[in-house]
Amino acid sequence: MNDSFMAQVTPPAASEGLAFWFIFNGYSLLVQQDGDAARVPRLNALTDLGLTAVRQQYLGYMETNPPTHVYSAELPRGTAAPDDWEFKSLRKLFGRLDDECFWLAGRAIQIMDWDRTHQFCGKCGQPTASQAHERAKRCPHCGHTSYPRLNPAMIVRVTRAGENGPEILLSRGHHFPPGRYSVQAGFVEPGETLEECVQREVCEEVNIKVKNIRYFGSQPWPFPNALMLAFTAEYESGDIVLEEEEVADAGWYTAKNIPQIPPRISIANRLINDFLGQTR
Ligand SMILES: [Zn+2]
Repeated sequence: MNDSFMAQVTPPAASEGLAFWFIFNGYSLLVQQDGDAARVPRLNALTDLGLTAVRQQYLGYMETNPPTHVYSAELPRGTAAPDDWEFKSLRKLFGRLDDECFWLAGRAIQIMDWDRTHQFCGKCGQPTASQAHERAKRCPHCGHTSYPRLNPAMIVRVTRAGENGPEILLSRGHHFPPGRYSVQAGFVEPGETLEECVQREVCEEVNIKVKNIRYFGSQPWPFPNALMLAFTAEYESGDIVLEEEEVADAGWYTAKNIPQIPPRISIANRLINDFLGQTR
């Protein structure tokens, strides 16, 4: 999968060759293992694997020639995997599926789950109807419309000039794997700008005030339904004081004494590696 993906809601009128299928049993994805790698099926239809879906969703297509369509599907709970296939949790598939396929699977699981959990109107309880041309469900009874929900979360890398070169602020939560440190992050609250969220989270977690907040990049984080918005910021004032309920330890690190950082899957890794790249 190295071609770009175009999201779309309306499926093709006729089947056009083999499509990629992201098939879920609960939150586990159907894959075939090949050594350390894994792949998702390419099929004419689910029946190729002898499977029947509760619901299926068209996600869009890969810009191959001709296009390769992409579907997600939800199986009845407890469906057994076909011979030579298995169900795996998405987190365990990072680095096994190729990266593009992994992020497509993240898209698929969120849309599949949204479809599953929005069969009825959240306002009046009547069955909803999927809209033909946008990813939305409308209640024919009261008109209430719902869209796939995303929870915006911000993540920020704070740096300062130290005596021995540039320093990065890293902290660890109580639930982190032993020895692991990362940058600061948190969910955006209603009514808050992203910049306010950056200021608040860093201040709450480690009592540091920051300035010169700049956008860095973003990453969908389908565990579940988050969109990570990454920023960089500079130290303004304050001494580290831990918010002890959430934060186990925090400190300023130079490129030379950087501790263990989050894996490549996360945008935290990109933020920290970008700092290391600038300072080496
Ligand atoms: Zn309704």
